[in-house]
Amino acid sequence: MSVLVTGGAGYIGSHMTYALLERGEDVVVLDNLSTGSRSLVAEKAAFVEGDVGDRDLVVRLIDEHRVDAVIHFAGSIVVPDSVSDPLTYYANNTVNSRSLIEATVQGGVGNFIFSSTATVYAGQSAEPLIETMQTGPMSPYGRSKLMTEWMLEDAARAHGLRSVVLRYFNVAGADPKGRTGQISPRATHLIKRASQAALGRIPHLDIFGTDYPTADGTGVRDYIHVSDLVSAHALALNYLRAGGESTVMNCGYGHGASVREVIAATERVTGHVLPVREGPRRAGDPPWLIAESSRIRALLGWQPEHDDLEEIVRTAWQWESRLNAS
Ligand code: UDP
Repeated sequence: MSVLVTGGAGYIGSHMTYALLERGEDVVVLDNLSTGSRSLVAEKAAFVEGDVGDRDLVVRLIDEHRVDAVIHFAGSIVVPDSVSDPLTYYANNTVNSRSLIEATVQGGVGNFIFSSTATVYAGQSAEPLIETMQTGPMSPYGRSKLMTEWMLEDAARAHGLRSVVLRYFNVAGADPKGRTGQISPRATHLIKRASQAALGRIPHLDIFGTDYPTADGTGVRDYIHVSDLVSAHALALNYLRAGGESTVMNCGYGHGASVREVIAATERVTGHVLPVREGPRRAGDPPWLIAESSRIRALLGWQPEHDDLEEIVRTAWQWESRLNAS
């Protein structure tokens, strides 16, 4: 039996692969290396370069590796890019996921874990977002993910494919053992950019908006360490294998930090004063995104181990420093 990890050469998928191997699972990574890197894939995993949308390939992999669960990370993730190039986002995220779900059903696999996003919610308030709240994504990225959630809901009803949809809040940090992290040189995420600014790799860190209705005027996000996110997937896998019903769960700690708080934490951790430039809001950014996380804690018994902004920043910084040195 093995687990098929799509996007396993990417940021989160590569962490997941290490965690699965550590608990004795066999892992097949499927990745087209469009943004990921072969160097991030753990040696013990079987690696296949290919597209998630290649249905025949996926059916063959399921058969050859006796796959009993699919964890689907592969996709495009940059919100502003999805605004300027929506059709690529629908192709990579929605159309390819449709094909993967079809192959999964065809291959007789009953367990599916899907990387969704907090941006599927319509909410615009400081209150934590609850899974039962109304959805209404602000971006094509969010829509492309929500459509996949709907396909999974329908596939559960029609074909008995049970799934756990995990709605990620702001995933950050890197493997505490230093084996993997975010590599994209044009990364847009705040904590990675802050580390790059501390290292002098970028001339300044932009603050996108200082006039939000938040306590200090900057955007507030629920930053979750990638290792805690990965442990949520591992528990979701146990849950599905034990026969758990399809469900949707938030992945966040339940509290947020502002852009200015992230900058202050980065300055404390790195000992560098960041070159900061205040600018206008970025299109599509809500003021707050904070998870209500009681469902995942209750249903999966999830207990985060890295719920500390400085620790998140420290692991991101250590990884970035290593990249900088290589
Ligand atoms: N942000 C910022 N400067 C940057 C990158 C991000 O001020 O260089 C802000 C962004 O407006 C948001 C928060 O940081 O309020 C987190 O953004 P990120 O891109 O990390 O994740 P998102 O919430 O967009 O998924």
